[in-house]
Amino acid sequence: MYPWAMESSARRRTIPVNIGGVTVGGSAPIVVQSMTNTDTADIESTVAQVAALARAGSDLVRITVDRDEAAAAVPHIRDRLDARGVDVPLIGDFHYNGHTLLAEHPACAEALAKYRINPGNVGFKDKRDRQFSAIIDIAIRNDKPVRIGVNWGSLDQDLLTRLMDENAKLPAPKDARAVMHEAITQSALLSAERAIELGLGPDKIVLSAKVSAVQDLIQVYAMLAARSDLALHLGLTEAGMGSKGIVASSAALAVLLQQGIGDTIRISLTPEPKGDRTLEVKVAQELLQSMGFRSFVPLVAACPGCGRTTSTTFQELARDIQDFIRDSMPEWKRRYPGVETLTVAVMGCIVNGPGESKHADIGISLPGTGEAPAAPVFIDGKKAVTLRGPGAADEFKQMVLDYIERRYGQVGRSRTAAE
Ligand code: SF4
Repeated sequence: MYPWAMESSARRRTIPVNIGGVTVGGSAPIVVQSMTNTDTADIESTVAQVAALARAGSDLVRITVDRDEAAAAVPHIRDRLDARGVDVPLIGDFHYNGHTLLAEHPACAEALAKYRINPGNVGFKDKRDRQFSAIIDIAIRNDKPVRIGVNWGSLDQDLLTRLMDENAKLPAPKDARAVMHEAITQSALLSAERAIELGLGPDKIVLSAKVSAVQDLIQVYAMLAARSDLALHLGLTEAGMGSKGIVASSAALAVLLQQGIGDTIRISLTPEPKGDRTLEVKVAQELLQSMGFRSFVPLVAACPGCGRTTSTTFQELARDIQDFIRDSMPEWKRRYPGVETLTVAVMGCIVNGPGESKHADIGISLPGTGEAPAAPVFIDGKKAVTLRGPGAADEFKQMVLDYIERRYGQVGRSRTAAE
């Protein structure tokens, strides 16, 4: 789609990791993941949320495994998802007691497609090595990959203290932030080295090193990418709520992705109370799609509106079309292969309306203030029809559907017939 963008961001080739049938790294497309916020012991709620995240397009879903009841629930969650036809791989998130839970709940260890551990809190002092080894052994026995996920909120304090002490003895010590970057990077790399020594293949390891400040994240991942060819999971931790979280995550991840760094991403948004958890999946998809790395849903280009806009009609139509497309995608993906590359324009006046609409596969230019009450529709760059009156919005939606059926329906029908 954007050959120059893809060229400048020639992906860094990492060692591919198979996570329950989804490849992360190598030449695979960048994978979207998300995480539930239900109590995993509450099987029904967790199944419902995993299914919603998968339906929104999450390629992998992570769930918390924090106690016996949660570990015991995992195989049942897997069974119920399978029964509903939801085959998204589940990742278990372990802290402090992962070695015990995985050992005492073999069905949980089997049902999960990957284990995520944090070397900063696998265990402390003399227990750390033993507990880390126990988790790696279980992963090897179950043939499961592991994400070694460092987080600066729970950084290995012994390592940080040692690096700070060494730094203080230098003739020109680095500033504390640079030492922190080094400690985060080393924590991830040393843990990966240890896991490999214990027998876990590099093709079973994904690394992450999450921090909550954009510039720190960019720096830490640049260091990780320069020193390792293991697959990398990107995410800004504690990104925050709403637009702050979306902007901060997108800014950090966009810089790294454009440098070819990152094989899988998660947007860690704090949801609004009773908010929609699937927003983090939509943001991740929109980030990848707007940068030209992957296509998930047809893109709707809509102008922001301004003083020339006569009414909210175009805002409503833009939102309607966007919702209509998102809601229809699970079915369209089956019926209309390739539909995710469709572009639709909904514009508010004559200034940029016809031009933008011509660039889209199908676009409508609604009338602005003082313009004749007519809305020309452009299909494949040519004016097709002019819509008028209160039914124009519905007529345009129908035209979008007809266009999709005409352009993508044939492929879907041939595929179904072949099956
Ligand atoms: S296309 Fe027209 S209504 Fe939309 S932002 Fe531009 S000038 Fe304003």
